[in-house]
Amino acid sequence: MFSDDELVPISALQHLVFCERQWALIHLEQVWFENILTTQGKILHERVDEAEREVRGDVIIVRSLQIRSLQLGLIGKADVVEFHETKDRRDAIRFKDQPGWWIPFPVEYKRGKPKIDESDKVQLCAQALCLEEMLSINVHEGALFYGTPHRRSIVQFDQGLRSNTKQYIDKLHEMTEAQMTPPASYRKRCTNCSLQDYCLPKTTDGQNSAQAYIDSLLADLGRKRDDSV
Ligand code: SF4
Repeated sequence: MFSDDELVPISALQHLVFCERQWALIHLEQVWFENILTTQGKILHERVDEAEREVRGDVIIVRSLQIRSLQLGLIGKADVVEFHETKDRRDAIRFKDQPGWWIPFPVEYKRGKPKIDESDKVQLCAQALCLEEMLSINVHEGALFYGTPHRRSIVQFDQGLRSNTKQYIDKLHEMTEAQMTPPASYRKRCTNCSLQDYCLPKTTDGQNSAQAYIDSLLADLGRKRDDSV
């Protein structure tokens, strides 16, 4: 069991799956640069956050739901959790102010199209694992909604995805404890990375942290200034 101050953000998983160095730059070195991709993603999230809980026929929609797991050491917010009405009570919950039985179905909103890596699925699965602990039921599936094209992609929380997600969560805690920024390694993904101007992956490939690179540049500048006095 983790304590409250050991919980790590669920949203960090997507950065870790995409690139361990990106995760470290954002979460350890506190660097964040917005590019068109992150800006579009933020606008999409703001639209989701603006709405409130509502009932649409046989679906209850809860937005911006605070979730956490003390077993996995995770905390975060689910964009949307739909609760689908069911006649089968297995893995369903009841609401105080709403008759019937309801099955949770997390939905995460993402800009762009489905990714090649499994970062979005891992993030969604982590949300499902938190809901399972909080509600004491199994959560079998959810969905990723992509901005372009406007459509949902159903995600089954099967054993393979659960196992991968738990491995990434373990890695997240391990790296948080180690407080180390991995060296850059230039890959195709770097062209879509919001931090590439800071990370300089082609320049720092295999070298130390981006902060160390900036520090060395500043040190060089300082030396040049001293030489010119
Ligand atoms: S530029 Fe490449 S190596 Fe650097 S953080 Fe982004 S994805 Fe990782």
